[in-house]
Amino acid sequence: MDKPTQQRIQALHPTVRDEVLKIIGECDKALIGKAKVRITQGLRTDAEQAALYAQGRTAAGPKVTNAKAGQSIHNYGFAVDICLIIDGKVASWETAKDWDNDGVADWMECVAIFARYGWTWGGSWKTFKDMPHFEKRGLTWQALSKKKKDKAGYVIV
Ligand SMILES: [Zn+2]
Repeated sequence: MDKPTQQRIQALHPTVRDEVLKIIGECDKALIGKAKVRITQGLRTDAEQAALYAQGRTAAGPKVTNAKAGQSIHNYGFAVDICLIIDGKVASWETAKDWDNDGVADWMECVAIFARYGWTWGGSWKTFKDMPHFEKRGLTWQALSKKKKDKAGYVIV
């Protein structure tokens, strides 16, 4: 597991850090060949979310999200985005590539491992497919936004 991935896991909601460590560890073990999982984003602050929402609206660039600050599971530390690092060098978002030649696309091997731990894949959404995205099942931003936060800014669950 690389440094950025470890650091992003440590910024997730405290209740899922160990679980995500295990998930990524299992993914890396399953992808015995060329690919390793990197978390490209975990916790996203409200300010970061607001900046993303502005993109394609009041700021330059294409629209990348329909979620305003507080409306993404990332804002509460219960979501991660991943890519695969190939041969320790190149980032890949290919979901169909079978890097380890075991008959199952590496990305889908990760999807299955996340699912076993109760994490939903954004690629399974009907309306807006978000292939790199995984989030803890059963959470909504509406419910999370009503919860009190601790001193570190994490919602109390
Ligand atoms: Zn995401």
